[in-house]
Amino acid sequence: MLSLALPTPNQNHSFNWQAIAQEFAAIVGDRYVVRTREELIAYECDGLTSYRQQPALVVLPSSTQEVSEVLKICDRERIAFVARGSGTGLSGGALPLLDSVLIVTSRMKKILDVDFENQRVVVQPGVINNWVTQAVSGAGFYYAPDPSSQIICSIGGNVAENSGGVHCLKYGVTTNHVLGAKIVLPNGDIKDIGSKIPESPGYDLTGIFVGSEGTLGIATEITLKILKSAESIQVLLADFETVEAAGSTVSDVISAGLIPGGMEIMDNMSINAVEDTVAANCYPRDAAAILLIEVDGLAIEVAESVKRIEEICYRNGARQVSSATDPEQRLRLWKGRKAAFAAMGRMSPDYYVQDGVIPRTKLTYVLQEIEKLSEKYGYPVANVFHAGDGNLHPLILYNNAVDGALEIVEELGGEILKLCVRVGGSISGEHGIGADKKCYMSEMFSESDLETMQWVRDVFDPHAIANPTKILPTPRTCGEGAKPNHDAKYKLVDRF
Ligand SMILES: Cc1cc2nc3c(=O)[nH]c(=O)nc-3n(C[C@H](O)[C@H](O)[C@H](O)COP(=O)(O)OP(=O)(O)OC[C@H]3O[C@@H](n4cnc5c(N)ncnc54)[C@H](O)[C@@H]3O)c2cc1C
Repeated sequence: MLSLALPTPNQNHSFNWQAIAQEFAAIVGDRYVVRTREELIAYECDGLTSYRQQPALVVLPSSTQEVSEVLKICDRERIAFVARGSGTGLSGGALPLLDSVLIVTSRMKKILDVDFENQRVVVQPGVINNWVTQAVSGAGFYYAPDPSSQIICSIGGNVAENSGGVHCLKYGVTTNHVLGAKIVLPNGDIKDIGSKIPESPGYDLTGIFVGSEGTLGIATEITLKILKSAESIQVLLADFETVEAAGSTVSDVISAGLIPGGMEIMDNMSINAVEDTVAANCYPRDAAAILLIEVDGLAIEVAESVKRIEEICYRNGARQVSSATDPEQRLRLWKGRKAAFAAMGRMSPDYYVQDGVIPRTKLTYVLQEIEKLSEKYGYPVANVFHAGDGNLHPLILYNNAVDGALEIVEELGGEILKLCVRVGGSISGEHGIGADKKCYMSEMFSESDLETMQWVRDVFDPHAIANPTKILPTPRTCGEGAKPNHDAKYKLVDRF
């Protein structure tokens, strides 16, 4: 078995924050160093709002060079740093540590180059996901990975989380669309990884960096692939009397050799939540589940696929299958799905979203087991998922103001993840591991698997200053030490 001493961040050192803030200010400009308690509140959590911690400082650089100079200071002082894009991550990846510097990329929002002939664009990390498609759609192109948060999440965050979305069933997740990047290593060195062409020899450093959740450095320029828009697109909405029937339809469509652009299921609770908020009269409120299927390609191919998919839906007991071809109608059908998480706010003061992956064939079994777990723990679970690739998003509804509720809900979430692993799946499809799920890494990986990952991390970050404590559990098992501790966590320190 491999054995390595685990590097720990320098959390017990007392830093001279006044002097460090001045050094940062000399690099990025005084107004781009955030230091007051009131201003830091905006940065104390990401989309996983149950975990909060103010960093010592927030720095907003505007260029690769500035990121490099800031990281050189962090490296010299052994200060932990955490990268942050838009802060929409759902696994606590951008959660600051007590004595850390949060490096926010929101000023780095330029599209640096658009090359239609070679189907690629180069962007800074703070560019918002759907700005890429907006920039190229006039010429008939688009950027395929489309997280539901695409109107706000950054490309840097997408790269770090290897984000997915509705269209990733057919076109692949972020890693399949990143050709290369300029990254700043934790010691401040600037490196280019990958290239501008699809294949380059040597180790696949881009593959290692994508999905590394800010633990290997900060991406400051990213080269993305763009695709030609399809000649024809049609969206089908099928409604079912059971979630299981919707699930079987998904398996049957794929088994028939059809690969739609996307296949998404929403259960009754989710349907009603979005109907109440954004999708008025779009989805049938009495359906147990709806299945949204997007078919794209050449017009002749789409027409044929749609015919076969409709047959499969009816064979599985669909009550009705409607379809939309014009862009406005299609957008309307997707709008509800994309707003599903936010809509949960109508149902419950808080929700905890899980992100397990299962083999498609286990969908019916796993959904039944989730229902049993929901009854056992006494918390409702709404289901919205990228059904085509087996990526579940059970949303556990609860009230964080109730003492002890969060701990029970986290236990329920953990049981769901273990269930996914038991049936041959994974503890994350697209939201990453972050602070939230690291204690379940040992459900999927052996100790030596985890040590191998630690080795890779140490090569990039020998002083353990890049987003330390995230992804890899310490200790390696799901012990108390690996679990985030809500009571002990949030500390306010006056530094200025
Ligand atoms: C309503 C809602 C819906 C969502 N739907 C989806 C979905 O469909 N699919 C999906 O995959 N995700 C989804 N997410 C999760 C989230 O939007 C994605 O993980 C997204 O990629 C995070 O981007 P961000 O800019 O907000 O990153 P942040 O939350 O700021 O950071 C995420 C991680 O990336 C690291 N990071 C950020 N920038 C850089 C950089 N330049 N270099 C290195 N590391 C960096 C951070 O340290 C952190 O670990 C959803 C979230 C919400 C709130």
